[in-house]
Amino acid sequence: MTTLLPNRIARYHLGLHHFLPPALTESALFQQWRLFGFVSAAIVFRLYISSFTHTYLNIVEKSNAGHRVDNLSEAVSEIHAMVSSCKPLLSWTTLRAAQQCREACGGHGYLKCANLGDIRSNHEPTVTYEGDNNVLSQQAGNWLLRQYEAALAGKAVDSPLGTVAFLKDLRTIKDRTFSCTGTNELKNPQFIISTYKWLLCWLLKYTHEKNEANLSQGLNKVQARSKAQVYRWKTLTKVYAEYITLLFCLETIDKKERELQPVLTKLFCLYGLWSLDENLVELYQGGFAKGEECARLVRDSVLELCGEVKNEIVSVADALAPTDFVLNSVLAKSDGKLYQNLQKAFFSQPGVFERTPWWRDVVPASKL
Ligand SMILES: Cc1cc2nc3c(=O)[nH]c(=O)nc-3n(C[C@H](O)[C@H](O)[C@H](O)COP(=O)(O)OP(=O)(O)OC[C@H]3O[C@@H](n4cnc5c(N)ncnc54)[C@H](O)[C@@H]3O)c2cc1C
Repeated sequence: MTTLLPNRIARYHLGLHHFLPPALTESALFQQWRLFGFVSAAIVFRLYISSFTHTYLNIVEKSNAGHRVDNLSEAVSEIHAMVSSCKPLLSWTTLRAAQQCREACGGHGYLKCANLGDIRSNHEPTVTYEGDNNVLSQQAGNWLLRQYEAALAGKAVDSPLGTVAFLKDLRTIKDRTFSCTGTNELKNPQFIISTYKWLLCWLLKYTHEKNEANLSQGLNKVQARSKAQVYRWKTLTKVYAEYITLLFCLETIDKKERELQPVLTKLFCLYGLWSLDENLVELYQGGFAKGEECARLVRDSVLELCGEVKNEIVSVADALAPTDFVLNSVLAKSDGKLYQNLQKAFFSQPGVFERTPWWRDVVPASKL
């Protein structure tokens, strides 16, 4: 539910800017940038989960009915890797979204009746329970490295759900470099998916090399993995999770009604580039990009997309939002009557127009 919050908070901001003085509305781009990435994440995650759940339940249903499922044990291993990497991505993104929403609303966000603090606190332990995020991501990495080793040896990868099917083209993918000259080339699903493939191939190599070096020094598997975790294993599984959410989301967009596809594609591109922005170090470190152009174009594209989705973001919010009762936030009500709702919340507090019973205790005693 918390991934849906930025939608409502975006509504709050869009509403608020009608009332703000012009000098303050200049901060609109900043508010868009800090919130719209999370709105796009909410859309990508929603479409990914609906598509993945469908695939998963199909396999469970066939298996329970005693029907033959091709490559069942390989599919189970791949699903385990997918879930183990996506639970950390989704729960950490949600936590960041809740905090960003609180800050984006300033002091209003801290009000008890805004409910943002409670939503964040209630969500917060999900990064630990049902599998601690860091421990889970190691499990996904185990499977990924096994597939990489198979691809290196020229064998077929075990990927019935297709999440690492691209490893058969490992050699050609790793030679790719950044060659775009304008943002239009980046605001394109093909660019995002192919850049993610390169990133995964490079991170697999980077993590695998370190792991092998650790093993050759006589460390056992657990020790070798733990010494390769920081900057390598952890980044690899995060990037894998981003890639599969994007991959499944894109397949789902293709099946949606035609009139929905343009806005969904823009949100797809926003999430993809917003996430690639966080992986720029690896794009440069691995030699995909050189010079300032790649970083500049990725960031320019993110800002352009924020402007392009601005007019549709309220409709997106309305499509995704849970009911007012569930959200229980005075700032995020669907009627958009922000100030009336705030006033109502303040005025309906018991004793709001009365003096506190202890007011005499804080008034200095009269000297008369
Ligand atoms: C609100 C809440 C509800 C819960 N409900 C249940 C429940 O209903 N049933 C149940 O059985 N359990 C429940 N738990 C327990 C939960 O599953 C465990 O807390 C969780 O698995 C983490 O284990 P731990 O607490 O031992 O932490 P640890 O595993 O000791 O982790 C502590 C820290 O060390 C890090 N760490 C641990 N191992 C590694 C590693 N190999 N590499 C890198 N870092 C590592 C972790 O990232 C974490 O930051 C609940 C926990 C919470 C907070």
